[in-house]
Amino acid sequence: MKQSILLIYTGGTIGMKQDPETLLLKPFNFDQILEEVPELKKFECSIDSYSFNPVIDSSDVKVEFWIELVHLIKENYDKYDGFVVLHGTDTMAYSASALSFMLENLEKPVIFTGSQLPIGMLRTDGKENLISSIELAASIDESGRPFVPEVCIYFESQLYRGNRTTKYNAENFRSFRSANYPVLADVGIHIKYNRAVISYPEKWGKELIIHTNLDTNLAILKIFPGIRREYIEAVLSTKHLRAVVLETFGSGNAPSTEWFLQNIKKCVDSGVIIINVTQCLAGSVDMNAYANGATLKEIGVISGYDITTESAITKLFFLMGKYNDNSIIISELTKSLRGEILNK
Ligand code: ASP
Repeated sequence: MKQSILLIYTGGTIGMKQDPETLLLKPFNFDQILEEVPELKKFECSIDSYSFNPVIDSSDVKVEFWIELVHLIKENYDKYDGFVVLHGTDTMAYSASALSFMLENLEKPVIFTGSQLPIGMLRTDGKENLISSIELAASIDESGRPFVPEVCIYFESQLYRGNRTTKYNAENFRSFRSANYPVLADVGIHIKYNRAVISYPEKWGKELIIHTNLDTNLAILKIFPGIRREYIEAVLSTKHLRAVVLETFGSGNAPSTEWFLQNIKKCVDSGVIIINVTQCLAGSVDMNAYANGATLKEIGVISGYDITTESAITKLFFLMGKYNDNSIIISELTKSLRGEILNK
């Protein structure tokens, strides 16, 4: 039987065309996708498309957008074998991370892609990204199961686990990096799936569960040499705060200054969850390595291990929406739920 793919257009550079008069980039009518990419007609699989209305620059992404996207996937889950989401690159790593938590028991590919140059431009990277994403979403193995039943990002010949990615380059065609986890597939002359690192359900056939209750009462506190007490106190006294992503140095270190530690401790003692995430692009937090990190651990800061900031934020949105009890949230934070941290 022919595979079927739902192509979801949400906005971003990929779907833009230059207005011949103003020369400004504007989203094109997605119904004309076949005119823009006639190559799509050559696919053996059937491709339906759905366009968000209005389409957005991904810097306008909000939680409501993720909820709409998740509902759309759920409503169409039985009808399609895979989903390709065209999305702006700016917040693609956040959206892919969020969806990985919001979709439980996922057994079909959900592949985010986009481009740095609009699809209507001669040198666009969008066509290859789109065509390969469809191919990846439609590919099945010998037993008829999808090769990659995960939320992924495909960009510039590499397929990444979505919740492991970060946008790290604003100009280069290779805009994403998954510094702490190997690529799931390399796309060259052949598609090479790295099956040992792709996550497969232990038991197939479970129902897809969607989680749409997200709690965004969270702050990020990125420390830097010279950080001022007033600033820290202002962030930590944010109204309704339930969690803080503390972006630390190296393997999870922060200043040993007394007022700094006192403020962190006061916040933890008041019931706010503080998770330690490194500012480094690669590597893991290890609060046993240095005295400054160990002090954070003693006062109740939780290790984020090798999680990305994008994943830490969206995992907390999801966990805080699901549980009121902090001890459950903390225990879930230290576990890999969707492959977002190294297996504990
Ligand atoms: N600002 C655009 C967006 O994220 C950039 C892009 O698509 O690459 O929607």
